[in-house]
Amino acid sequence: MSELTQAEKDSLTGAADNRSVQPEAKEAAPAKLSAVFPSYARYDLSLVKGKGSWVWDDQGNKYLDFMCGLAVTSLGHAPEKVGAKLKAQIDTLWHVSNLFHIPGQDRVAALLTGNSCADQVFFCNSGAEANEAAIKLARRYHQKVKGTGRYEIITFEQSFHGRTLATLTATGQQKVKEGFLPLPEGFKTVPLHDLPALKAAITENTAAIMLEMILAEGGVLEVQQEFLDAVVELCQEHGLLLIVDEVQTGMGRTGKLFAHQHYGIEPDIFTLAKGVASGFPAGVMLGKGYLREAFSPGSHASTFGGTPLAAAVMEATIETMLEDELPQRAEEMGEYLRGLLREQLADTPFVKEIRGKGLLIGIECTEPVGDIVLAGQKQGLLFVQAGPNVIRLLPNLYVSKDEIHQAVDILVQLIHTYANKGNGEAHS
Ligand SMILES: *Cc1c(COP(=O)(O)O)cnc(C)c1O
Repeated sequence: MSELTQAEKDSLTGAADNRSVQPEAKEAAPAKLSAVFPSYARYDLSLVKGKGSWVWDDQGNKYLDFMCGLAVTSLGHAPEKVGAKLKAQIDTLWHVSNLFHIPGQDRVAALLTGNSCADQVFFCNSGAEANEAAIKLARRYHQKVKGTGRYEIITFEQSFHGRTLATLTATGQQKVKEGFLPLPEGFKTVPLHDLPALKAAITENTAAIMLEMILAEGGVLEVQQEFLDAVVELCQEHGLLLIVDEVQTGMGRTGKLFAHQHYGIEPDIFTLAKGVASGFPAGVMLGKGYLREAFSPGSHASTFGGTPLAAAVMEATIETMLEDELPQRAEEMGEYLRGLLREQLADTPFVKEIRGKGLLIGIECTEPVGDIVLAGQKQGLLFVQAGPNVIRLLPNLYVSKDEIHQAVDILVQLIHTYANKGNGEAHS
């Protein structure tokens, strides 16, 4: 390493600035930087209040929320029944260690296993943690129960599985990995729908195949039935576990309680987080009964996983979803929303495809859509991208036809405007 000159050292320490800048000029220095790490490219909006499908900013402006904290507030903002249950629990008991029985956990586990192919659940706090638990369970099942040394997980390009070291390694997007080397061993990524590549990636070390039913962050890409059937067959043939990441697609969003139920398959393991607790931090990893022994006492844990508060919110959220038949509602409203979009955007070459299931909808355009997202905010409609060219819509599952019409009016007008003038840059 070469020696720094005094001027270079000064510029690093700020000494040069201190010498050359007058006190008066310093007063007018740029606004103080936020004390929060700048790891998010934030929109210039502060949202301070929410009710149902609507949120308000700190200037009193009102927005129709078609992103829902990214598929989180699926019951709308501040749902009353869930809020009442949370308040009651706040007055009763917030936290006890998982060294004790937590009755609320058993009730949530019964609701989830009673409505899915899973028999066992593990509670944690986020999607990444649920996927981390799934990866650990798959490895431990092979290594401790089956007595093999298998450890490798095969995932797919454009997938998203989280930001911990293991889950970002599992993620099939280069941008989330940059600057975080070395990555943990034991992950392979192959192109989606490429069966020969998948077959070639399987070795004697392969423990599991992990995928989303709709690659949501990757552009709202639906997995093809035929490919998924072949994946299931490969898992059976080679003794691999099938892990389905339902962090975004789960909890009624796609028109079934869990998206894999559209395909008539039963994963060995699947994971939940985003819609499972109406915005309270919670994640769940669910698995088949034969995996039970793999998580023997002491093998895995989480201080905050499924505490009495989290369990109360999950229980109220899931009960509400089942009582109000929200998966079915998502199916119907999604059909309605896609129908309106297809009708009104049919002759717009700027729009390549309108796709998705239930209320997880993607509008693929021929050019980047970042400016459309920002223009939508100015018109009072919140939605997000899924990759540079795809507009993603994620309204809450109670969204009304009237609200859908309001959103479609804004969106269609924006898309026509941008289609005509051309839209240069992305803001992703
Ligand atoms: C959001 C997401 C995750 C990560 O969830 P966090 O709660 O942010 O850790 C993982 N998988 C999928 C499919 C997601 O959409």
